[in-house]
Amino acid sequence: PDEDEARLLEGLNGPQREAVVHTGGPVLVVAGAGSGKTRVLTRRIAHLISRCGVHPGSVLAITFTNKAAAEMRARVTALVGRRARAMWVSTFHSACVRILRAELGEAPEFGLRRNFSIYDDADARRLMALVLRDEDVDAKKFPPRSVLARVSNAKNELTGPAEALADAASGNDELHARAYAEYDRRLRAANAVDFDDLIMLTVRLLRTHPDVREKYRRRFRQVLVDEYQDTNHAQYMLIRELCSPLDPVPGAPAVPPPELMVVGDSDQSIYSFRGADVRNILDFEKDFPGARTILLEQNYRSTQTILSAANAVIGNNPDRPAKKLWSSVSGGERIIGYVSDTEHDEARWVADEIDRLHDEEGCKYSDTAVFYRTNAQSRPFEEVFIRLGLPYRVVGGVRFYERREVRDALSYLRAIANPVDDVSVRRILNVPKRGIGARAEAALEVFAADEGIAFTEAVDRVDEVPGMATRSTRQVRAFGELMRGLRGLVEQGAPADQVLAAVLKDSGLLDELKASKDPQDQTRVENLVELVAVAQEFVAQAHVVDLEADQVAVDDEELDARALEGDDSLGVFLERIALVADSDQIPDADPDSPGVVTLMTLHTAKGLEFDNVFLTGMEDGVFPHMRALASKDELAEERRLSYVGITRARRRLYVSRAAVRSAWGAPQYNPASRFLEEIPAELIDWQRTAVELDGWTLSAGARTGASRRAAGASGPRDDAPAFGSGRGHMPASGAGRDSRIVSLEAGDRVLHPSFGLGTVVATSGSGDNAKADVDFGSGGVKRLALRFAPLEKL
Ligand code: ATP
Ligand code: MG
Repeated sequence: PDEDEARLLEGLNGPQREAVVHTGGPVLVVAGAGSGKTRVLTRRIAHLISRCGVHPGSVLAITFTNKAAAEMRARVTALVGRRARAMWVSTFHSACVRILRAELGEAPEFGLRRNFSIYDDADARRLMALVLRDEDVDAKKFPPRSVLARVSNAKNELTGPAEALADAASGNDELHARAYAEYDRRLRAANAVDFDDLIMLTVRLLRTHPDVREKYRRRFRQVLVDEYQDTNHAQYMLIRELCSPLDPVPGAPAVPPPELMVVGDSDQSIYSFRGADVRNILDFEKDFPGARTILLEQNYRSTQTILSAANAVIGNNPDRPAKKLWSSVSGGERIIGYVSDTEHDEARWVADEIDRLHDEEGCKYSDTAVFYRTNAQSRPFEEVFIRLGLPYRVVGGVRFYERREVRDALSYLRAIANPVDDVSVRRILNVPKRGIGARAEAALEVFAADEGIAFTEAVDRVDEVPGMATRSTRQVRAFGELMRGLRGLVEQGAPADQVLAAVLKDSGLLDELKASKDPQDQTRVENLVELVAVAQEFVAQAHVVDLEADQVAVDDEELDARALEGDDSLGVFLERIALVADSDQIPDADPDSPGVVTLMTLHTAKGLEFDNVFLTGMEDGVFPHMRALASKDELAEERRLSYVGITRARRRLYVSRAAVRSAWGAPQYNPASRFLEEIPAELIDWQRTAVELDGWTLSAGARTGASRRAAGASGPRDDAPAFGSGRGHMPASGAGRDSRIVSLEAGDRVLHPSFGLGTVVATSGSGDNAKADVDFGSGGVKRLALRFAPLEKL
C-alpha cells in the first residue's frame, strides 16, 4: 500500500503533492500554463479512490470539453483500474443533461419531459427569428443573433424573462425581455432547451427542490473543476449548490459538505464573450470561507524560451497579479518567425516546415498543431496540405454537424424523437421539396395556434385545416404518414442507424440529392453517408460496455443495464450529437501511427499541448481580432488568448504572418500583430522578415506602416491602399468590377486575392476577351479572364 501511495505521488513537486493529498475545506490551485494543474486534478481523483476509500461513484469532475473528460477518465483508470468507471467526469453541460433527465419527474412545473430536445446555436437562432417575425420586430435593427446574445447573457446570469422584464430600464430592454419570454415559451412548448438552459434549469431545480439538492450533495462527496477561470455565473452557482452544507437530519450523524477543488489560471480566461467571469477565480477565497490556495510555479511543459515569450506578452496586460513561472527545461530553440507574401505562401511555408520536422527531426505529424484565430483561416492550410498529401485534421471549422444536409437529416431524427419539436418539424416539412409551400405552412401554423396544439398535430389533422388547397392537403397528409411510419420504427426499438437509413430513403432526401447535377450535392450525399457511419459507430459503441475511455460517465447501475441491452436508441444518439464539442474531433494519439497534423482555433487549443506549434496569421486585425482593436478589455482577452497559444508548445514555437491576406475577395494589408512585438526580439529567429511589394516594404516590425519606404505620390500607385487601411474593406456586390484592369502587359506585377502576388508572363485577346497568364510562384501559372479576375496592378 505504501508502494501504491508512492506511485500516486511520484512525479509531483511539493505544492502539487499538497494539493493531491489535501482533505477537508475547499482548495483553489492557481498557476500559470503547463504547471501541472490538470495533472494534480487527475492524481487527486486517483488518490481519493485508492487511498482515502472514496467511492468512485461519489466523484464529480468537470472539464471544459468532452475530449478532456475522456482523457482524464483514461488517466485515472490507468492509475486505479476499472472501478474508476463509476466516476462522473464530464463537461458542465453533460452533467446537467444527466441530472435533468433523471430528475425532471420531480419538477413538472418546468414543463419539460425527459426526452427534451437540446437546441444548438443555429436552432436557437431559427427559433428567435420566428419569434421576432411574429412580434413584428425589425430584424435589421434587432438581428436574431444579437437578441439571442442578450438572452444568453441573461441566462448565464440566472435571470429569467420575468425578472428581465422587471429590470428593463428602456423600451429597448423591454423588447428584448419580451422576445426572451416568448422564445422561452416556445422552447418549452417544443419540449426543448438551449445550451444555456441546461445550466440555469439545473441550478433552479437544485434551488427549488431541497430533496433533489440533498440527494446530489450526498452523492457527490468530491467535486473537482478544471479551467475554473472560464466558469460563468450560472456554473459558479451550480458548484455552490452542489458543495454547500447539507441540511441536518434529526437523530442522524451530521454529513459534512462535499469537498471542492478548483484549478485555473486567470491569465487563460478566454471566454468572457460567453459570460465567463474571471472574478469567480479571483474571489474564490471570499466565496468559499476557509478556502486554501495553493500556487504552482514550475512549468513542466515548455522550454524557457517559449515561457519567456509567453510571460513577456502577458506582462502587457494591466491589473493582473504578478506570477512567477519558470521552466525546468532551460534554454530551448529560438522561436522561428516568418513573414510571407500571402496567406497561401504562409500555408506553404508551414507545410514545408512540418514535412521537414517529420523527415529530418523524426517528429510525428500528431506532435504538431497549427493554430489560427478564426475558423475561416483553415482553408489555405487545407488546400496546401491536400496538395502535398500531408495528413491533417481540422478541429471545428464549418462543422460537419452544421452543414445543411446534415442538419436536415438530424431535424428528421429530432422530429421523430420529439414530435412537438416544432422547429425541427417545420424545417423538414418541405425538405426534400414536396410541394408544401409557405401558404400551407402558414395555414397549419394558424390552425395549431387556434387549437393550442403542436404543429405535428396540425399536420395529422390537416383535413380540418381551413384554407388548404387540395393538393397541399394531400402532400401534408403524405408527410404525416411518412413521419408516423418513421416513429413506428422507433417504437419497435430500431437502433439509431436504422432509423437514420430509413429517414434518408423514405423521405426522398437522398434521391433528390443523387439526382441533382450540382456537384455540391454530391458532397452532400457523401456527408449523409458519413452521418450514417457516425450512427453505425454509435450503435456499435453502445454495445461495448467495458470501454475505458467511454465518453459519458456511467455509474454501476447504468453500466449493468447497458451490459444487458446497450442503449442504441435514437434519443441517446441525438443527445450525444448535441453535446459534441469541437475538440472532440481531435484524434487520439496512436503511438504507432505517424498521426495527423491538427488544425484548430486558439480557443479550442485550451488545455492541450503539442511538441511543435505554429501560431499563424499574427497580424493586427486578424489576431488581435479586428473587433477587439478598439476596446481595452477585449484586447486584454486577445492577449490572454495569445498566452494560451504560445504556452501550448512544448519544444518548438513558430510564428508567422502574411503581408497580404484576402478578405471577402479584396486584398487586405495587415501590420504585424502587436503580440509579435511584445515577444523580446532576441527570442525570435526571423527566417524571412520583409516582403518587397515593388516600392513597398512590409517588414516584420511594421506596425503602423512606419517602414513604408515610399509614400504618397512617390509610391507605386497613388491610390494603392495604405497599409492597414484595407482592413475590413468589404466590396459591395458588383463594386470593384469597374476597377478591374483592362490593360496589362508582360512583366506587370499583380495581386490576386487568393493567389497572391504574381507576374504577368503573357497576354491575349482584348476588350471583354482580354486574358493574362500570370505566374503566381508556388501557386503556379494561371490564365485569367481580366473581365472577371479581381486583379490589382501594382
Ligand atoms: P494548462 O494551464 O495549459 O491547462 P496545466 O497547468 O493543466 O496546463 P498540465 O497539462 O497538467 O498543466 O501539465 C503540463 C505538462 O507537464 C504535462 O505534460 C504534465 O504531464 C507535465 N507535468 C506536470 N507536473 C509534472 C511534474 N511534477 N513532473 C513532470 N512533469 C509534470
Ligand atoms: Mg490544464
